[in-house]
Amino acid sequence: MRNGNLFVISGPSGAGKGTLVARLAQRVPDVWVSRSATTRAPREGEQDGVQYDFLSDAQFQKLVDEKGFLEWAEYAGNCYGTPLKSILEQLEAGKQIVLEIDVQGALQVRDKMPQAHLVFIEPPSMEELERRLRGRGTEEDEVISKRMEAARFELSHKEDYDMRLVNDDLDRATDELVAYIDSCASETR
Ligand code: 5GP
Repeated sequence: MRNGNLFVISGPSGAGKGTLVARLAQRVPDVWVSRSATTRAPREGEQDGVQYDFLSDAQFQKLVDEKGFLEWAEYAGNCYGTPLKSILEQLEAGKQIVLEIDVQGALQVRDKMPQAHLVFIEPPSMEELERRLRGRGTEEDEVISKRMEAARFELSHKEDYDMRLVNDDLDRATDELVAYIDSCASETR
């Protein structure tokens, strides 16, 4: 069994983090993907307790007050947070923990757990990012422009990350991510 490690995956909404993380979890048996809590409303097809724990503002605030989050942040008008308890349990169990969170959250994790490995997923271009966001067809124009604004902010922080990956070819990007996780995990064996 390998020692547990914490990996933070960030990148603009639409960069393809979700798809990459799902492929990673299929390829690396000891990867454990954390489930965040959010005050955002579920999108069509999303279920409470699957993609996220969907909470009311009051429920989220209660967890903040109880110090139940490893990190939390506001993103495009909603709050998102990583539950602390499950992270500590999975680290203890020797898992390669993957958090898919925004830049503000990633920087909080680095402060609290400096041994965390930070990976930034870049879209091939801003034009391609907007095309992907619109192609989802799940978001209003106003939401898309908020997410494009957030994307510019996130890209301005890519130098803060330990590793950067351009997601222009999903197979290659997956291979690079798997190789990175395996190399970090073997260093702590
Ligand atoms: P979405 O609404 O598209 O699911 O997520 C919006 C953004 O919030 C994405 O960049 C996603 O990575 C980020 N996010 C999801 N969960 C968390 C979390 O627990 N903490 C933080 N800081 N960001 C999160």
